[in-house]
Amino acid sequence: MKEQAYNPYENMLHVLDEAAEKLGLQRSEYETLRYPERELTVSIPVKMDNGEIRVFEGYRVQHNSARGPYKGGIRYHQDSDLNEVKALSAWMSFKCAVVNIPYGGAKGGVKVDPRELSREELIRLTRRYTTRILPVIGPDQDIPAPDVNTNGEVMGWIMDTYSMFKGHAVPGVVTGKPVEIGGSIGRTEATGRGVTIIALQCLENMGMDPDTQAYAIQGMGNVGGTAARILYESGKKIVAAGDYSGGVYKEDGLDIPQISQYLSDKKNCLKNYQGEGVKHLTNDELLTCKCDVLIPAALENQITADNAERIQAKVIIEAANGPTTVEADKILERRGIVVVPDILANAGGVVVSYFEWVQNIQSMAWDLEEVNKTLKKIMLKAYNDVDAMAKEKNTTMRMGAYMVAIDRIVTAGKLRGGPISMA
Ligand code: GLU
Repeated sequence: MKEQAYNPYENMLHVLDEAAEKLGLQRSEYETLRYPERELTVSIPVKMDNGEIRVFEGYRVQHNSARGPYKGGIRYHQDSDLNEVKALSAWMSFKCAVVNIPYGGAKGGVKVDPRELSREELIRLTRRYTTRILPVIGPDQDIPAPDVNTNGEVMGWIMDTYSMFKGHAVPGVVTGKPVEIGGSIGRTEATGRGVTIIALQCLENMGMDPDTQAYAIQGMGNVGGTAARILYESGKKIVAAGDYSGGVYKEDGLDIPQISQYLSDKKNCLKNYQGEGVKHLTNDELLTCKCDVLIPAALENQITADNAERIQAKVIIEAANGPTTVEADKILERRGIVVVPDILANAGGVVVSYFEWVQNIQSMAWDLEEVNKTLKKIMLKAYNDVDAMAKEKNTTMRMGAYMVAIDRIVTAGKLRGGPISMA
């Protein structure tokens, strides 16, 4: 099947419509979920170090607030656009509903390659972007967090800018902050940790011993890198790892600490990594390499009709948001490959964001044991809810997750007196 130009928002709508239909919903009952409640596009003038002014485009899209304040990360990426951010905002609504935390969904993005900016330029970009979205964010309103190419440091700048305008410190306006200024311990690694919790649970459910599987991970950023480290530390064999430059493969297992150490210098990339017995792969070879568990942990639109037929993994754990296209999903389903969808698999980040927000409201700090224990409890509960729904409706984990999410959001909307908080 020939794929049309990939539009993540269309991709999201396909899955939403199919899941809503399987749930027996009328279009009018979930129609509002097909549109974001609010879309904001902003221009961000930045004075560059050479004195020139460059204007960047940014977005904040608020998809749904039936279950609580909007929640979702901000990404910096040269390919970011409104359709991507709209899709990502909807996925946040579904994700928060699947793990049953009291949030709606939102997402932000700035069309910029942050590797081309100096640190000072990035600070100025972040501060100006924050002032542009300031009227629509806030600790009770919409709470940003890190995403692709943003981190705790960037959240600190956002918190500071917001607080300057309010005239007092407002730590709860963002999550994923450094611990010293109100961040939660365990937040940075929470997404990767959640991915491993879900992966192990899925393998056990399928009767596959997690200790004897070969894992392949696309993306060695915060999420993929952390998942790789946790799996490696518990004795799992990671045969392949990739980043934007390409991948590396070793049949009897890569030395993940050595690779992480190498990549900690941001000038390095996997294409140039050398290790004993390590083979180099293209991105396509990485996705289709011989492995049991494939963990896409990079960007959208990676598993497509072009490669889905050749994927060798038995299980795919979606650590990235939206890595699989609708067409690829159908191929994987026909081939009996189990896909644990993004809105379940990568929800660990927003779950610990929620803990951070709760700690900020209470002016309390939990310890790491409390954070990780509660994270695991919530992730496993969500896994079981999705698995039960998928079994009951005799469908895939993706459909099961969407059905759990849509049901919860639509119910919240009805309880507020209208189909999905409609006036
Ligand atoms: N950016 C992360 C995600 O896609 C985390 C969002 C958050 O913590 O609000 O789930």
